[in-house]
Amino acid sequence: MACRRLDAKCLSDLLKDIDYFLLDIDGVIWNAAGDIQGSREAVETLQTLRAVIFLSNCSCLTREEFVSNFEELGYNVKPGQIYGTAYAVASYLKDTRFRGKVYVMGTPSIGKELDKFGIKHTGIGVDKDPVGATCRPTDLTHLSLDPEVNCVIVGYDNYFNISKLQKAVNYIARGAISLATHEDLCYPTTDGLVTIDAGVLVAAVGEATGKTPILIGKPSRIILEQIRRDAHQLDPSRCCLIGDSLSTDIALAARCGMRSILVLTGQSTQKDVDGINCGDGGGDGFVPDYYIDGLGDIVTLLRQGEASG
Ligand SMILES: [Mg+2]
Repeated sequence: MACRRLDAKCLSDLLKDIDYFLLDIDGVIWNAAGDIQGSREAVETLQTLRAVIFLSNCSCLTREEFVSNFEELGYNVKPGQIYGTAYAVASYLKDTRFRGKVYVMGTPSIGKELDKFGIKHTGIGVDKDPVGATCRPTDLTHLSLDPEVNCVIVGYDNYFNISKLQKAVNYIARGAISLATHEDLCYPTTDGLVTIDAGVLVAAVGEATGKTPILIGKPSRIILEQIRRDAHQLDPSRCCLIGDSLSTDIALAARCGMRSILVLTGQSTQKDVDGINCGDGGGDGFVPDYYIDGLGDIVTLLRQGEASG
């Protein structure tokens, strides 16, 4: 199966079959260098044509913080349109009627979203039980484990250290539920440097415990089910997911029967598309229906379609 460049005719046909556009954010709307040119106009245009929902694996922002970032760039977006993994993991615990306390290896955004549902948590910020320089690996007396904790959430954590890892692993070894916001290993950058993401921490906890966490973000169906619940049981076959990652965005679309468009402003490149179309095993087996250079191309293609009548 090949991945075709989206053209005006394909877009016109696609619109007939689609009720919802699900848009990834990092690498589509903005990236490490700032906003991506043309994306705002494309989102404005798409919002006049179909319902638009944003779903991001980023665990560092609450729904409201996403909105603030959008507003700074001139977008008009509502909190209810945004499914980030800080919101999604809190929503998952609410949906599963979780009772207890969560140890969070993650940013304050996760704590704020848990607070909205009245879910108790600990662990966010600088660890208060750091491993001393003289502490032997076998000496865990510095760890003060909270007896109430029966769930561990691992997301991206600026204050990650060995003590936090020890706590997360020991809570899970004691029987706590293990949740991962997302498994992305790197954040897309434009300067050639590698910025690690939550997947590195999730892998560390998973290796140490031998337990696979419940994944909340893409390509897990959990985040899509939350959107379906809130959006009148939307039909995945009437959705088109636009994203920059083959292993998360396009994988979720393929698993759930959604149409998909890959953009080349983030993780994926023309080389990836060429690899898919050469059949060299590129794309981890997940093939987008179409690709475009950037989200702004949508506007150009719609104008071309109008001009050709
Ligand atoms: Mg992305």
